[in-house]
Amino acid sequence: MQEAQLIRHKTHSVKISTITVGSQNPVVVQSMTDTNTSDIYATANQIISLSDAGSEIVRVTVDNVEAAQALPEIKNYLLKKGYHTPLVGCFHYNGHTLLTEVPECAAALDKYRINPGNVGVGNKRDKNFETIVKIAIKNNKPIRIGVNWGSLDQELLAKMMDDAVKNGIDNDSVMVNAMVESALSSAERAIAVGLSADKIVISAKVSQIPLLKRIYLELAHRSNYALHLGLTEAGMGVQGVVSSAAALSSLLQMGIGDTIRASITPAPGEARINEVLVCKEVLQSLGLRRFAPSITSCPGCGRTKSDEFKKLTLETNQFIQAFLLENKNKYPAIENLKIAVMGCIVNGPGESKHSDIGISLPGKGEEDVAVVFIDGEKEHTLRGDIFKSFREILLSYVEKKFGAHGQT
Ligand code: SF4
Repeated sequence: MQEAQLIRHKTHSVKISTITVGSQNPVVVQSMTDTNTSDIYATANQIISLSDAGSEIVRVTVDNVEAAQALPEIKNYLLKKGYHTPLVGCFHYNGHTLLTEVPECAAALDKYRINPGNVGVGNKRDKNFETIVKIAIKNNKPIRIGVNWGSLDQELLAKMMDDAVKNGIDNDSVMVNAMVESALSSAERAIAVGLSADKIVISAKVSQIPLLKRIYLELAHRSNYALHLGLTEAGMGVQGVVSSAAALSSLLQMGIGDTIRASITPAPGEARINEVLVCKEVLQSLGLRRFAPSITSCPGCGRTKSDEFKKLTLETNQFIQAFLLENKNKYPAIENLKIAVMGCIVNGPGESKHSDIGISLPGKGEEDVAVVFIDGEKEHTLRGDIFKSFREILLSYVEKKFGAHGQT
């Protein structure tokens, strides 16, 4: 752990407009739109919704001239609404052409994402790559070299496969080596063109966690580039959430990863912002960042007396979310609040004492009272309308600790 923490400390700081990624800066949450970028208002409004949910960088697809021409207008619309979220243009195949033909797009974007596997073939690959890098230098923008195993440089892979067969190297190792090689050699090429290392972010995404870990460990050991971390094509629903969380957590805990995205497939009609919420929850669970008060609750079991425990847990979660929406700015540092809602005396008092404010509901066979602990001390014994009483105690505590005259 200690050694891995040092790895993260060695990454370059990359300034992306209003936010800095890498080195000792907090791990940054990012997301991607799924609108047609040429639809200016749909795209801008989705960026606003992702930003409101906590996305600190938003990537947009730039796949044709109409999309490229829309970018300056999207940016202006956002600025007029007070949104300064950095925008990243995601380019495949024709980025060199679009950035050349629509210089306003190159100027409006805050970073360019280049996929080395999709930038061209043969001689054109290096030429097209260099064109984008030169435009980045001219506009003083950083780039992300985003390798993906679904679009890995086929010439590089074929060459490495040949070498591997001769040397008896297994297929997984060839893939790991090819991903790392593609990312690092592209970064070296960008530096040879004149881009500085603190203008480069690297990602090398696969959809299998063991391979992802090997790739990022290798990248971290062999370079100091800021790392964009994510499991690609993580899937839908519980699978997408769990696999993304597992992948991100395993590397973040080793100090690897400067900015993260969860590549979750939304169900039809599902909010795009869920990928942002997952990233925030991962960072908060790992203790790397705090975005909102935490509410610890036990799962309930055969000792739980009634559904009151689940109802109180749900109501407390909903109450805090609604309260934050309305009052976040009035209570700075409220994200540090720790609440516990527990089902019985077994772990209830203990867990509650570890929180700022905790409530232990009566389990089966216990007296019909709920005990409230504040800052580790037993302060109230509630009877009757526990919901109402607990909400009042919670509000009073928030006002006292986080309000204008609060202590923190
Ligand atoms: S605290 Fe009590 S109700 Fe909750 S899981 Fe533990 S034993 Fe069950």
